[in-house]
Amino acid sequence: MWNETLPVLIVGAGPVGLTASLLLARQGVRSVLIERHPGTSIHPRAKGLNIRSMELFRVMGLEEQIRVAGTELADSTNWLFVETLAGKEIRRVSRRSLFEPPQQLEQISPTTGTLCAQNQLEPLLVEEAYKLGCSLRFNTELISFEQDDHGVSASVKENTTGAQYTIRATYLIAADGASSRIRHLLGISMRGTEALSYHANIYFRADLRALVRERWFSMCFVQNPEVRGILAPVNNSDLWQFHVQYHPEKGSTFEDFTPAYCVELVRKGVGLSQLDVEILSVLPWEAAMRVADHFQQGRIFLTGDAAHVMPPSGGFGLNTGVQDAHNLCWKVAAVINGPASPALLTTYETERRPVDQFTTEQAGLRLEGRGTPAQAQAAEQKKPERVDEIVVTMGYSYASPAVIEDDEVVPRTNTLDLSGRPGTRAPHVWLERDGVQVSTINLFDGHFVLLASDECAEWCEVTRAAAARLGLSLDTYRVGVVSADLVDVDGRWAVAYGVPPGGAVIVRPDGFVGWRTRSFEHLSPDKLEVVMRRLLCYSSEQG
Ligand SMILES: Cc1cc2nc3c(=O)[nH]c(=O)nc-3n(C[C@H](O)[C@H](O)[C@H](O)COP(=O)(O)OP(=O)(O)OC[C@H]3O[C@@H](n4cnc5c(N)ncnc54)[C@H](O)[C@@H]3O)c2cc1C
Repeated sequence: MWNETLPVLIVGAGPVGLTASLLLARQGVRSVLIERHPGTSIHPRAKGLNIRSMELFRVMGLEEQIRVAGTELADSTNWLFVETLAGKEIRRVSRRSLFEPPQQLEQISPTTGTLCAQNQLEPLLVEEAYKLGCSLRFNTELISFEQDDHGVSASVKENTTGAQYTIRATYLIAADGASSRIRHLLGISMRGTEALSYHANIYFRADLRALVRERWFSMCFVQNPEVRGILAPVNNSDLWQFHVQYHPEKGSTFEDFTPAYCVELVRKGVGLSQLDVEILSVLPWEAAMRVADHFQQGRIFLTGDAAHVMPPSGGFGLNTGVQDAHNLCWKVAAVINGPASPALLTTYETERRPVDQFTTEQAGLRLEGRGTPAQAQAAEQKKPERVDEIVVTMGYSYASPAVIEDDEVVPRTNTLDLSGRPGTRAPHVWLERDGVQVSTINLFDGHFVLLASDECAEWCEVTRAAAARLGLSLDTYRVGVVSADLVDVDGRWAVAYGVPPGGAVIVRPDGFVGWRTRSFEHLSPDKLEVVMRRLLCYSSEQG
């Protein structure tokens, strides 16, 4: 079999590996993605895509397709508490506000979160990857690897033929899920809790439309003397999931969940003993909170579930992994395509690990029951404060050498800090470009972007000159009144970004503010070059 050399090898075609493949292709970086299974996940697993993930998919041109794929779940906004689905309803809680954010959230983002089952999302990502010319190899498994100062040599096996060959890559992105072989082989340990609880996730076919009776729910909590679990829709007609907890400490195991037992459980949960049920797949999962001690070892990066596992409570798992890929891929591209220093890559762990740790804790705080009494008590004692979903998903900030902090006071982690402060997600503001409304979020598509107040036309020219010296790809815009590149129709931009007349901001390719100035002080190519070199982590010795 052939051996080959390429810039990036990605292992795992889950949502995180596929997103990484798309992001690299959009930056012109060649990669090969390998996946041991013949296709993407047949099991629905995650369903909630949060606002920040939808912002990324919007920029990638996938927002509408994802919403269409999730149309059948668009009304599933209730939490239902029942004895059985067919029987007594105890309580109904509307969660509509999570999907239709109150007015102040419209100021925060041009988009909203949505429901779309993971087994519907992944094929969309695959289709887009093929459109962009990405190389995806299913039925191909990573067996082992070695790394040296120049790259990683991975031994892979084609599962259909048994043939083995070597791929040589400059970097390896491990998106190989919670039991990551790559993490194990690297000897990177995980820190956190033991499993807090064990669950079987039963994916089944049964026509439940007549029983739902327009009570569209995202989760239906079933509790009766025979079964306790959570029923969740996949297409709101004949595809559903039933999550049931089991107790190894009392002798039950995942192996107990035979097809016949699963049919019985579903019937007991639904409340119809003769219900026609077909079991499609059954997945085990442990509710645990663990974060890898390191996200990088040499040329290898852990992303998504390979780097952190968290309970599904809060729906943060998939979304957090997508953000990992987004943070990492522009850095890999900037190093491969130039002109960034490899030191930029170390900021992936510096920036993402604390955020992922915080998010994992927040997911744990939302987990009903929280494991054994002893685990619950231990968790309670060092319990962090629970913060709103929107703060968990958008409120964090990065502190690393790839961010040049200014003098603004750093707020606490429980506030939504979207003020244009360096290290935070750049604010969303509606502007007009050539008479067409555009969100600032759509401008941040893999390049550095300078936004400058139009009182000073020189900003764009001088910044472009500095970028050209470094060979850096950078877009520049004057924001202001009628003749500006971007017209600030509502007069919100300067306040939202904290940029007074004469000031400017540089936003990184991942849409996070890298640098902000409130004066003309830096308005020279030399000074701006220094700023850009810092954002790219150049050391003073580099050329
Ligand atoms: C029951 C359940 C419900 C969930 N609900 C939610 C939710 O509501 N919201 C949310 O955000 N998250 C949820 N999650 C979590 C979410 O599914 C994961 O966070 C997400 O799938 C992680 O994506 P990933 O790409 O990192 O890993 P995965 O999706 O696990 O993908 C890893 C891929 O790597 C492949 N692979 C592994 N080893 C190799 C190898 N050696 N060679 C080649 N390929 C390999 C695997 O086959 C797999 O396809 C849920 C998870 C479960 C189990």
